[in-house]
Amino acid sequence: MIIVKTKEEIELMRKSALVVSKTLGMLAKEIKPGVTTQQLDKIAEEFIRDQGAVPGFLGLYDCPSTLLCSVNEAVVHGLPTNIPLEEGDIVSVDCGALMNGFYGDHAYTFEIGEVAPETKKLIEITKESLYVGIREFKINNRVGDVGFAIQKHCEDHGYGVVRELVGHGLGRKMHEDPEMPNYGKRGRGKKFIEGMVVAIEPMINMGTHRVKQLKDGWTIVTLDGKPSVHFEHDVALVDGKPEILSTFAYVHEALGIESNAENEFRQEALVL
Ligand code: MG
Ligand code: MG
Repeated sequence: MIIVKTKEEIELMRKSALVVSKTLGMLAKEIKPGVTTQQLDKIAEEFIRDQGAVPGFLGLYDCPSTLLCSVNEAVVHGLPTNIPLEEGDIVSVDCGALMNGFYGDHAYTFEIGEVAPETKKLIEITKESLYVGIREFKINNRVGDVGFAIQKHCEDHGYGVVRELVGHGLGRKMHEDPEMPNYGKRGRGKKFIEGMVVAIEPMINMGTHRVKQLKDGWTIVTLDGKPSVHFEHDVALVDGKPEILSTFAYVHEALGIESNAENEFRQEALVL
């Protein structure tokens, strides 16, 4: 059952999403060669609590950490480790926060120093596919329209779209209906309705779409060992159109990236 949110609830969800956005922005300045994902996890937890929120993942499904940090061939659900990040690595950082009874949940793939051009391209196309998918999250469209758009954009570049893990509805629970696959057929699946909020999160592999889980019971890696990228935004359906509640603006500011990709999905200009 899809749980729609009132405008007031959507404003609370925006606050939860922005806690995560600011956390990712803070982490952007810390992510560099030599840093471990356990160190990142510790400072992220402190930062979230300092904002009056609590980590959204910690303890959920017995998750032992605040962040899920997936390095190189890891797709998602990577547990923080004491292995230092190295020049040329990529790390997908997924973060949740709970405040006022509502969850925020979003993710960004960071480059450590100079990464290979083909990896840069995978990051660029996956990031594009996030917005291509968000554009389809509008009134009278269906779950399959978002999935189709993301899948087409990525497969046109020869990339593999992960099947086993999907986006989801978001609210007082981290995972609500509907599931939001990054693949699908136009016009299929549940119909979008005003006031619903979803996490749209393409997980895109350079090679095969196939994945496996490591023995730690968490980390999902590509079957061929090639890199994977993950971006995630929280999006509400407001006045028939997609409105992004989270933002990469803090990350972009930290990294000196110019982007107006979110602008078309925001009714009011964002003030950092
Ligand atoms: Mg997430
Ligand atoms: Mg999610």
